Amino acid sequence: MNRETQWEVVIGLETHAQLQTKSKIFSGSSIAFGAEPNMQANAVDIALPGVLPVLNREAVVCAIKFGLAVGATIAPRSVFARKNYFYPDLPKGYQISQFEIPVVQGGGLSTRVGTGDTATEKFVHLTRAHLEEDAGKSLHEDFHGRTGIDLNRAGTPLLEIVTEPDMRSSAEAVAYARALHSLVQWIGICDGNMQEGSFRCDANVSVRRPGEPLGTRREIKNLNSFRFMQQAIDFEVQWQINEINEGRPIRQATVLFDPDTGETRAMRSKEDAHDYRYFPDPDLLPLEIRPEWIAEVGAGLPELPQAMQQRLQSEYGLSAYDAAILTGSRAMADFFSVAVGQTGAASAKLVANWVMGELAARLNR
Ligand code: ADP
Ligand code: MG
Repeated sequence: MNRETQWEVVIGLETHAQLQTKSKIFSGSSIAFGAEPNMQANAVDIALPGVLPVLNREAVVCAIKFGLAVGATIAPRSVFARKNYFYPDLPKGYQISQFEIPVVQGGGLSTRVGTGDTATEKFVHLTRAHLEEDAGKSLHEDFHGRTGIDLNRAGTPLLEIVTEPDMRSSAEAVAYARALHSLVQWIGICDGNMQEGSFRCDANVSVRRPGEPLGTRREIKNLNSFRFMQQAIDFEVQWQINEINEGRPIRQATVLFDPDTGETRAMRSKEDAHDYRYFPDPDLLPLEIRPEWIAEVGAGLPELPQAMQQRLQSEYGLSAYDAAILTGSRAMADFFSVAVGQTGAASAKLVANWVMGELAARLNR
């Protein structure tokens, strides 16, 4: 038997999606990218004494949209908590997040793994998605032995989306991440810009022999491209298998991927993991979401990719594969809809081929 086939890979992803609000999650500062350092940080963001956070309603609307789009439960009552730790770019000494009761619970995402007729369907269950604020940034490069602190990012609204450990290969993890990336842009809650850090993933990876309980995981932090995600997971899996084969048990750790070497290396072990001492933030009321609000937000959602795929198949007789490609992004789906509206349904297949072939090729160029 091939040595590789004795191992099952297990992956769970945690994704931070920056929400497309105008202002921060608990203050009125702008979140526009690229401002001069500290020009978008007000008294709340720099944590002057006596200031109070006020929740941004738009951030909650984004969370509701996401919950509806993935078939999750929107918690009628969720709670903001303080996650306590010290870091120079976290002036309050804690991050406001959600812990025991997140706003979005359960749900999942259907993805297609592979291409063409050999593609398979994979459903990834979500554990939760919760609202939180981002921290500031520590800048090391320009400061010769010192560190600069830019608090523009402090308080930027994030939705952290956590999956169950459902994925069984780097290809499945990338397929899920791509589907999620497309969905958050489709419903207009995140611009998806990975270079600017608007969409970043952590991959939890372990291996086991089939039938065994879950192995010990290592968490690869801050993957900001799909190619790096694939490379990092593939390297990590091989590394873990080698370690176990050499008789060294895996220890839980946080690791970083180095794109220059193609390797992952340990940042810190979980032994010295923080004890965050979460507790409900007394400055914020519990977040209550009434059914009427959920219905109102739902009424404003566009047709979702999954539903559109079904419709493209039944209305125009397109294949499941074509329907999936055409709904790969909202822009492509809209373009197809307008084009087929002009030519009529009888030409749908012709239009689909043209959009997926000629147009996509020209856009890639
Ligand atoms: P933490 O809060 O310490 O990061 P969680 O239990 O919330 O830990 O898990 C975080 C992520 O790790 C989730 O996406 C989960 O699916 C995944 N995960 C948990 N256990 C494993 C495992 N043994 N192998 C791979 N992924 C795992
Ligand atoms: Mg984690």
